[in-house]
Amino acid sequence: MVAPHVIIVGGGFGGLSAARALRRAPLRVTLIDKRNYNLFRPMLYQVATGLLSADEIAGPLRSILSRQKNIDVLLDEVTGISAKQRTVHLKNRDVPYDFLILATGIRYNYFGHDEWRRFAPGLESLDDADMIRSKILLAFERAEEIASRAQAPEEAATREIRRLLTFALVGAGTVGVEMAGTLAEMSRLALAHDFRHIDARSARILLYEAGPRILPAYPETLSRKAKKHLESLGVEVFTNARVMSVDSDGILVDGQRVPAGTVLWGAGVVASPAGRWLGAETDKSGKIMVEPDFSVRDYPEVFVVGDTAHVVAPVRNLLGIKSPKPMVLPGVAQPAIQEGEYVADVIRRRVEGRAQPKPFWYWDKGELAIVGRTYAVADLRFSRFTGFVAWVIWAVTHIYFLIGFANRLFVLLQWGLTFLTKRRRVRVLSAESPSERNVIDPAA
Ligand SMILES: Cc1cc2nc3c(=O)[nH]c(=O)nc-3n(C[C@H](O)[C@H](O)[C@H](O)COP(=O)(O)OP(=O)(O)OC[C@H]3O[C@@H](n4cnc5c(N)ncnc54)[C@H](O)[C@@H]3O)c2cc1C
Repeated sequence: MVAPHVIIVGGGFGGLSAARALRRAPLRVTLIDKRNYNLFRPMLYQVATGLLSADEIAGPLRSILSRQKNIDVLLDEVTGISAKQRTVHLKNRDVPYDFLILATGIRYNYFGHDEWRRFAPGLESLDDADMIRSKILLAFERAEEIASRAQAPEEAATREIRRLLTFALVGAGTVGVEMAGTLAEMSRLALAHDFRHIDARSARILLYEAGPRILPAYPETLSRKAKKHLESLGVEVFTNARVMSVDSDGILVDGQRVPAGTVLWGAGVVASPAGRWLGAETDKSGKIMVEPDFSVRDYPEVFVVGDTAHVVAPVRNLLGIKSPKPMVLPGVAQPAIQEGEYVADVIRRRVEGRAQPKPFWYWDKGELAIVGRTYAVADLRFSRFTGFVAWVIWAVTHIYFLIGFANRLFVLLQWGLTFLTKRRRVRVLSAESPSERNVIDPAA
């Protein structure tokens, strides 16, 4: 008899954890992703700011799963699903399934203004990180070039230099805060002595948050401390600030024009179109409302995990203490990983004719955000840490979760070097790289 066929769409945290958990199951598994790599997103900002290179935080899906004999990896993009026919549509062909796991993640949401995306890229993929790194480095290069033309730059040139050296970040969640802190240290330390005509340390880093405080998912005390630390690094933090538009010259905030050479987006998110593919019920950000076993109503063979799923589940902290009532799970890596493993167990048991697993509960290990080179905030739910201690917790857990031993070792060495020298390693601009063409001509 032919083994049932499981298709997993998305090789991120959720999809990969499901694929690995199905390793010895009597199933044929196909993992489909439009990218050929699994990306450790929590450290993507380090690629965007020249601290690490792409291959240190990403691994080819094919090689990660090479020892798993029951799995096929397909580099392709899913464009739709016919749930009644149990078929996944790819760009040029259709593939049938017996079970389907959707783990397609999210995208940044430009509040209905998708045209802002080209002026204010968000950090989602390795290409984005590469493009953002080029954008940041080119802003310094252009400012230097203008300043070098005259001994005493005219007013227009001075204005342009100031614009180029202004970096505006929209959204002060983890990504915005981490980028702001790193950019501040990059300009104050790593680039401080590299230019002859501009003072890289004069770069302005502006962080805008529409809500009343930064890191809204964290306890208020940690938000306050993170803000104080960012300000000590020279970041200008604006809360209750509504960004009204973005264009090639900068942004409009609460009716006020802010010229900025680089605008980076880290505000709201929207789920992948998986909800539309299935015609399933979604929340307002497009996440699919799932049943307690993560299946989709009317389609018990279709499961959704990770950022694409709206999940309400009981939660326990690191000490095993249960939350008083079920909670909506956050869009971070741990729920995606744990949900992927759970769904693999559900499918396996169904195929083997065994009883279904006990109801899912989320093991909440807390949240961590880094705010500069040696400062972090950590909410482990039963206890909170700030400063260097939190940074050590951040470093240990992030290195531990990096895929592949070689990566871990490399990253540790890179960090050690950066720590000692305060310099950034990845600062080379390649003229041929498409990312640079995009930077020079955003319309390209
Ligand atoms: C910059 C950044 C920093 C972050 N930092 C942290 C952090 O510090 N800690 C933390 O816990 N979380 C962090 N997160 C959130 C975390 O990365 C996500 O919650 C997690 O990746 C969700 O896992 P997922 O499997 O749902 O989706 P993802 O990991 O996003 O994977 C989705 C996969 O689906 C693929 N895909 C999408 N659409 C299609 C399609 N149509 N066809 C084929 N393939 C498709 C994508 O290529 C991708 O590989 C961060 C996110 C970002 C963007």
